[in-house]
Amino acid sequence: MAWPCSHRCAQYRPRYGLEDGDQGELLIEDQGELLSMSGLPQTKPKEMLAALNPKDDGFAVDAVNMVLSQALHCSASDVHVQPREGGWEVLYRIDGVLSFAGILAGGGAGDPVARLMVLAGLPTYQNGTPMEGRLVWEGKQQADDERGGVAMRLGVFPTVHGPRGVVRILQVEGSHQRISLLGLDHHQEQVLAALCDPTSGLVLVSGPAGSGKTTTMYALLREIAANVPRRSVMTIEDPVETVVDSISQSELAPVTGLTLASALKSAVRQDSEVLLVSEIRDPDTAEAAVQASLTGHLIFSSLHSTDVASALRRLTQLGVPHHLVRSGVRAVINQRLLRKICESCRQGSGSTVASHAAQVSNPAATLTGQAEACPACAGTGYKGRFAIAQVVRFDSSDAVGEALADTLQAGDSVQRMRAAARERGAVDLHDIADAYIERGITDDAEVYRVLGKRADG
Ligand SMILES: [Zn+2]
Repeated sequence: MAWPCSHRCAQYRPRYGLEDGDQGELLIEDQGELLSMSGLPQTKPKEMLAALNPKDDGFAVDAVNMVLSQALHCSASDVHVQPREGGWEVLYRIDGVLSFAGILAGGGAGDPVARLMVLAGLPTYQNGTPMEGRLVWEGKQQADDERGGVAMRLGVFPTVHGPRGVVRILQVEGSHQRISLLGLDHHQEQVLAALCDPTSGLVLVSGPAGSGKTTTMYALLREIAANVPRRSVMTIEDPVETVVDSISQSELAPVTGLTLASALKSAVRQDSEVLLVSEIRDPDTAEAAVQASLTGHLIFSSLHSTDVASALRRLTQLGVPHHLVRSGVRAVINQRLLRKICESCRQGSGSTVASHAAQVSNPAATLTGQAEACPACAGTGYKGRFAIAQVVRFDSSDAVGEALADTLQAGDSVQRMRAAARERGAVDLHDIADAYIERGITDDAEVYRVLGKRADG
């Protein structure tokens, strides 16, 4: 019995929460033929990984196929394959949280990390050097799937037990295409869409790593690229995260010695109107971005900072004078991603909800595939994520923006800037998250994981 699978992993469909005796269908590609392994007693991700025999000739190939299939099926963003004494530990990052998937046994000649390196065109004899490469994994797709392979980026790092591989699964074009798909509320969608209209200024997206900054910037660019008349849109990224057809993307190649700042200066001379610089992390890029924003370019970029006040302060720490911050920055979007409570668990039995609560308190939730685990979310209790964002504009129509700009110029501390913004009615991310908790979309534990404790005052 073959099951159609809606995911890109196609022929392989892991089953979580199987009843005893119920078996899933696993097909393994062998010399171009798909062989059914449904006779195997193990059908859960952990057991499936453990069932691969390291002494088999095709071990590394099968291991990589299985791991990448599972990861795509779980909608994982990253796959970690870390060598341990006598094997490899496999972990998937799902909805921002790293989950233990299983162990691949060692002891044979095959090495799954080396197999990944071959797929990414990296030399496997150069052990001891960190390396990066790209691969397009064709996998085993359904015949009617015309989307082609899945683009991935492999990073290899030497460890005492051998090379450790981390695969970033690049977003498939089509997911998060537009602002309306970010999961924001309607009002915030309109505010973001309005940020695409101006012809100049700097729009910053702030937040820690993994808070969806790039996704938001791409959504804004797609909005702009879809508008008429067309505007010339370019990106300078390090590295490119998603390939978008309608815009001109460039990636910094370390060998050329090109920096984000020098690439940005050249891009400005390419008759570009809208530019994305993946991140402002040094004074040169900060200066180039602000200069470009003051000379008739709409610039999008991201900053690692926790809120709007600290994003502005960060720009001044990078050497941008207060008055240029004030005249160049058009808006700061401060955002995070929160996991949604799994609908199936919520509607499930009391015992499922109880095990869900246990998982919530344990952020290192594992893909256990236990009989009582919810099949929709693999027992993590959450399924999917949505963005929450605080948008502050600096165009005299936003009292919060005015208060922040004034206190920044006065040289006040970040705490005083926050207090001034609060006095003018600023709504912070905790306030926004609370509304989602009330509506039962997420919960306290998730908000605490992402935002930490609410600051008093
Ligand atoms: Zn669930």
